[in-house]
Amino acid sequence: MTATAVAASPLDRLAAVLACPSCHGPLDGGYACLPCGVRGDRRGGQLRFGGFHEAETRDDPLNRMKETVKRRFGRVYPLAIQVVSPVLLRRFVRPFLAGFDLDRELVADLGCGTNRYDPRLLCVDGSAYANVDLVSDLRALPLGDATLDGLVSVAVLEHVPDPQAHVREMWRVLKPGGRLVCYVPFMQPFHASPYDYQRYTRPGMERLFADFAAVDVRTGAGPTSAMLWVVQEWLALLLSCGSSRLYRLLTPLMWLLSPLKLLDVLLARHPDAAVVASGFVVEARKA
Ligand SMILES: [Zn+2]
Repeated sequence: MTATAVAASPLDRLAAVLACPSCHGPLDGGYACLPCGVRGDRRGGQLRFGGFHEAETRDDPLNRMKETVKRRFGRVYPLAIQVVSPVLLRRFVRPFLAGFDLDRELVADLGCGTNRYDPRLLCVDGSAYANVDLVSDLRALPLGDATLDGLVSVAVLEHVPDPQAHVREMWRVLKPGGRLVCYVPFMQPFHASPYDYQRYTRPGMERLFADFAAVDVRTGAGPTSAMLWVVQEWLALLLSCGSSRLYRLLTPLMWLLSPLKLLDVLLARHPDAAVVASGFVVEARKA
């Protein structure tokens, strides 16, 4: 890449694919669709179309703590979670992104949180974290039909009340031939962010993405990750003698057991790991 060919910022590239989140028609220069009464709001390098209200992210006590840490330690948070979490995620986002020419092709991370895998990625989230390019309800994206080459969705679908609507929206914004990678939990304890609604088996994932042409589901986090997270919660409950306060204090202590997750380096490859896998990775292509 020469100095003159430096890729435009995600927001500049976004301008070409923006559309009304309601009617999917074009927006005017002020990011507005007058017939629908929709207006985007540009703040620095960030474009906002709705998203979560502050109060929604503060309902659950554990999520409230997570939100505070995310806002204060933004970029470090994903790394910290990787270290202390009982879940050993197999590498799947970077190998997926390696299949794109990100200077030319537009790939969005829907529900990016405070994470940014690549500066050329379009980071979309319901919360206005500093790294987010586009703040939006993920079920009503302000993007035109068939505008994106790729989509990343990591641990998002369990947190939306209507995952089917969410997947339909992914299908709508992908170009024909566009590809997505999606990670969802199967055997995981409740974890609000800001909500938590469902889990998926392997056939459940295949059904959810049935509108896509090629769907491949594989174990994304193995049986040890599943067992460890449950045991950590179980121990914190057992030792807290009925006190919610003590339970919340004990939970981080249980992270001391997390290194055992390394057993999944082997166990996640077991041909029957899907029976009690912690989560699945789906790769799908729009016909
Ligand atoms: Zn409209």
